[in-house]
This record gives sequence, structure tokens and C-alpha cells, in this order.
Amino acid sequence: MLTSICGINWGDEGKGRMVDLLSRDFDIVCRYQGGNNAGHTVINDRGRFVLNLLPSGILREGVVNVMGPGMVIDLKHLCNEIERLREGGIEISPANLKISDKAVITMPYNVLQDIMEEDRLTKATGKPYGSTRRGIAPVYADKYMKKVFRMGELLNTELMYKRLPDIVVWKNMTIKAYGFDPVTVEEMIEYFETYGKKLAPYVVDTGLYLNSAEEAGKNIMFEAQLGALRDIDYGIVPYTSSSSTIAAYAPIGAGVPNLKLNNSIGIMKAYSSCVGEGPFTCEYFGEEAERLRKLGGEYGAATGRPRRVGPFDAVASRYGIRCQGADEIALTKLDVLDDYEEIEICTHYELDGKVIDDFPFTDVLDKCKPVFEKVKGWHCSLAECRRKEDLPKEALDYIRLLEKLCSCKIKYVSVGAERDAYIKL
Ligand code: GDP
Ligand code: MG
Repeated sequence: MLTSICGINWGDEGKGRMVDLLSRDFDIVCRYQGGNNAGHTVINDRGRFVLNLLPSGILREGVVNVMGPGMVIDLKHLCNEIERLREGGIEISPANLKISDKAVITMPYNVLQDIMEEDRLTKATGKPYGSTRRGIAPVYADKYMKKVFRMGELLNTELMYKRLPDIVVWKNMTIKAYGFDPVTVEEMIEYFETYGKKLAPYVVDTGLYLNSAEEAGKNIMFEAQLGALRDIDYGIVPYTSSSSTIAAYAPIGAGVPNLKLNNSIGIMKAYSSCVGEGPFTCEYFGEEAERLRKLGGEYGAATGRPRRVGPFDAVASRYGIRCQGADEIALTKLDVLDDYEEIEICTHYELDGKVIDDFPFTDVLDKCKPVFEKVKGWHCSLAECRRKEDLPKEALDYIRLLEKLCSCKIKYVSVGAERDAYIKL
């Protein structure tokens, strides 16, 4: 069984929380794209964990975790993340963590580039991209320029160190143009020696590993970072991530382009949140935003930034479901709406006086206005609901309305951050 778990919205839908729950039925969990710009918060019987690079299956004993070729890996960040989890009692060894030899290494100069460019954009235009400043866009750009180092090279650094000086010369041309001090070959070697060497024992051909696991009948889950609207091709460019967050990319990004997914589970939030910049049509402002932000605890896991919030957006969610080819939905954070007597939903957009159903091209989004509808809230706590029968009528009506608006079955409803706070419909 090959299943992908992906985000329907702008990210932070609770993918980590759902992977932590659903991984009980899987042998392997793979991350297939992105880097340490992810922030998945997971709360279970072992504690509260924030994961940036490691697959969320790392918290479950017996699950093997794979970091695929589609990922970009900051060596220092990964070493620190492993240390932090070990301190929290999580065992990590080459038996339960396998890193693709083809995954790309995020370099310290990529982080510097990200910061330089966001600062330049802010000064020049007042409109930064809202990057997490962790080097993700520059390292993916280098990948397509074919000027990167890959994890497999850590097993034979001699060749790598021969290529390094010219890449440093090339990179310093950019760094100097921003008016910053050039980086040195020695600093980069120190980075590889200090952190890369620690990670070398985890490096394998994840394609071979996953293919033989699949042949042996193992269940494999692919875990996405961010949501459909942050996808490099289908998202709100340029306010997107720099990788493909789409389920169809999962086999490629994990190392098994020859395998086909059996199903795609979309993680969709009961309201909307968006961290960083970009068009966000259904956005709330002022007190309305503050109320929902507080109720939902919407502050970035990776950055601590307050997230922008709004009601459920049916236009964007329908598009997200289409992009992800979602067969079924896990609806998260429904309990956050407990307090509302009436709940707003953005059912359509208005563009130049016309009501539209389909998510438009990014440039046009800025001109779109949300069309809201109000439905009756349940106005009581869902925290203890564990069965469909426990849900108040209004909550069930809300779920059914979202299903109707999105033409997709909602199979799971999450009513709390803890592992068992969910309902299977
Ligand atoms: P991800 O990036 O998609 O994994 O999501 P994040 O971890 O960034 O954000 C989701 C946040 O909501 C985390 O702090 C979770 O602990 C929390 N969370 C997840 N599901 C629920 C839920 O059903 N109810 C509530 N109240 N919190 C939830
Ligand atoms: Mg997140």
C-alpha cells in the first residue's frame, strides 16, 4: 500500500499530527521534498515535538523513516534535530532513518543568500517573498544549475573537495555583489567534516530500499511538507516554496519513480491560515483575525511568526484537492471553531463584479474579493468527541457542507492536537 499525505491549503494543516496518527498502519514514512523550512508539531504519549527535516514517523517505534532525493538537507540543522529528539527519548539510528544518497545538501552560503535576498527585496520593494530564510530557494536554484553537493558524496569526500573550490569562487561572485564578505573553502570543509561525517552512516540508495520493501509487501507513506498552494508549479508563485509539494511528485521525490500511489489523503484545515506573504483572499483582519489566531494558536512552528488567518476557503480548497488528487480528506482543527455562534465560510470569489468558482491565476488573485456565507456553529466543546455520534448536529452539518463544496469525502476529523483526539467517520 502506497499512500501520500499532503496539504490541501497553504501548509500547517496538521500534516505532522495526521502522519503521527496514521503511521500506525505503515512500515515506512518518507519525506520527499523541501527542507528545514517545514514545521510539523506533533503531540503524543512521548511528548511534544517539532520536526523540521525528519519524517514524522520517527516518533513511532518500528517505523523506518526515509528522507528522499527530492529533499534539501541542512547538515547542521539535521544533526541538531536528531540530538534534540534523542534528548526527548527518541531512538534514531541507521535502522530507522535512511537518507537518500541523491538528496541535496543545503550549504551555509545558501542560508546567507536567502537572507541577503529577502533583505534586498524588503529594502527595494517593501515586498519580501516571506521566506523562512533557511536557504531553501537558493539551494534548489543551485540544484537546477547543477552546482550542488549530494548526501552520497559524504561517503567519498575526496572528489567533493576537488569540486568545492570552484563552486566557492562561483558563489562568491553573487555574495560579493550583495556587498557581503566572501565565504571560504575552509569554512565549507569544516561544515562537511563536523556535520556531514555524522550523517554519512545513514546514507543509502533509498530507491533500492523502497523498491525491495514494496516487493516484500510493506506499507509506505509519503509525507508532504507545506500545502498545494505553496507548490512551485501550482501554488501562488512567487510566494511558494521552491519544491513540489504535490502528491504525484511523491514517488519521484522519495526515490521510486517506478511506483504508483494507491491513494492520496489530503489534510485540510477547518479554517484557513497562511504564514508569510502572498495573496490570501479569505483573510480576516483586526479583531476578527486576532480572535481566530488565538483560538487556533496560529504561530509558525518553524519561525514563531504569527500566521495570517481566515475562514474556510472553498475555492482554494477545491483547487488544492484537485492538485493533490485527494481521494479522501482528514479535516483538522475543527475544535478551534467551538467558540463561534456563527461560522463564516468563503464559498466563492468575486472578480470584476462576477462570482467565480475556480481558483484563478495568481496575478488575478489580488483583485478577487471573498464571498462569505454564514452557518450556525455548535458552540460547545468537541474536545472529547471520539465517535461520529458524539458530534453535535451543527458540527456534522459543517463537515457535510465542506464535503459538498469540495466534492470530496471527509474520512477523519481531528478535534485536538493529541494523537487520539480524532474521529473516523
Ligand atoms: P503541519 O505543518 O501541517 O504539520 O502543521 P503544524 O504542525 O505547523 O500546525 C498544526 C498545529 O495545530 C500544531 O501546533 C498541532 O499541534 C495543532 N493541531 C493539529 N491538529 C489539531 C486539532 O485537531 N486541533 C487543535 N486544536 N490543534 C491541532
Ligand atoms: Mg507547519
